[in-house]
Amino acid sequence: MWTERQRAMLAEMGVRVFVQPPQAAPADVLLQDEPMASDPPQSPVADAPPPVPAIARPPRPASAEPPMRMPSAIDTLDWEPLREMVAGCTACALCESRRHTVFGVGHTRAHWMIIGEAPGEQEDLRGEPFVGPAGQLLDSMLMALGLTREEAPPERQVFIANTLKCRPPRNRNPEPEELARCEPYLQRQIALVQPKVILAMGRFAVQSLLRSNEPIGKLRGQVHQYQGVPLVVTYHPAYLLRQPMDKARSWDDLCLAAEVMERGPQAR
Ligand code: URA
Repeated sequence: MWTERQRAMLAEMGVRVFVQPPQAAPADVLLQDEPMASDPPQSPVADAPPPVPAIARPPRPASAEPPMRMPSAIDTLDWEPLREMVAGCTACALCESRRHTVFGVGHTRAHWMIIGEAPGEQEDLRGEPFVGPAGQLLDSMLMALGLTREEAPPERQVFIANTLKCRPPRNRNPEPEELARCEPYLQRQIALVQPKVILAMGRFAVQSLLRSNEPIGKLRGQVHQYQGVPLVVTYHPAYLLRQPMDKARSWDDLCLAAEVMERGPQAR
């Protein structure tokens, strides 16, 4: 059963307390997995059955370290030149349709780094990640953990970034080539922040960071590593808006990340 504190936190995330804890969930729910991560569909295209574009590299075991990558000039940039480079980026065709690049927000030495998929319509308009409906849920999830995107000390103010800095047209899934072109920016952001834990939200964040095509349902519940930083996998907030029953499992993932923060990567 949930403790009072957990009930309060679940209520904060919009999970009604009669929802069973994850281990007691019915078998059909246990078999569900995240079909698609972007914000609730805004066009017939976004509503289509989700194709699963794999990143153009062989899948790797979930816990393996990603391969070494050739160093690039981006690896040496500090925050401002990095921000400027992202703002002027023309490395893929997404630059033609974007209104704003979405660099990321938060404490530059945050203990928690939250990594999502790609900007949606609202994010593209405002240049800030997770400001649409999925962002509201993300903020509630963070609040339940005592975290925020607003100004606060680095143990409380998270850094939020996406695998893609530009919005894919009509919120379609990111293309492998787009993910690959954008990846050095995220890598540099992680290297600059040096978070104590990374929360990877949704299939594309996981594909990018862990080089794994395994479904979220198989990767969650373990502590992975990304370049020496403990990484916890969870469902994307947009998916949770469509599948609220999985909020309880996502809460379990957040608790795992909090344990990692308290006790280090051996938490489980
Ligand atoms: N979904 C994401 O993954 N990132 C955003 O910034 C908004 C929606």
